[in-house]
Amino acid sequence: MSGFVSFFKPMGAKLAKALSTRERQKRKAAAVRHAKLEKARLMDGLRLDAYKRDQGRCRVCQKPLRLYGDSVLDRAQLHHVKYLSAGGEDSIENTVILCAADHDKEHRHVISIDGNPEEVLTITTRDDKTGVVLDVRRSPCPA
Ligand SMILES: [Zn+2]
Repeated sequence: MSGFVSFFKPMGAKLAKALSTRERQKRKAAAVRHAKLEKARLMDGLRLDAYKRDQGRCRVCQKPLRLYGDSVLDRAQLHHVKYLSAGGEDSIENTVILCAADHDKEHRHVISIDGNPEEVLTITTRDDKTGVVLDVRRSPCPA
């Protein structure tokens, strides 16, 4: 009997370890899914708050935008004034509503957006080839 146990015990332990590894992987995947869902909820809430504050318009061109919609061209996009990669936060003080065209221009550095979205933003337009400043204007908070 003791021989039987000693033969199968290591197998059982190995199996238990394999299962727990699989269980750990499952739990880790579930935690990643949960974190992504939480992030999506946070961003959706933030986009709604910024949309309300910016009164449903692009802060650069004032185009009226939809919160939800089929066309990406009409949909409000949330932009981080200070990029997340530069240490910017997911907060109402660091986000603005932009149209798809101006969001694209900002990330191509044709326009730059600086300042506090809750107060006044400075919008700088540059020549996309030379980088020469073409226009500087202010976008006060509409709320
Ligand atoms: Zn715009």
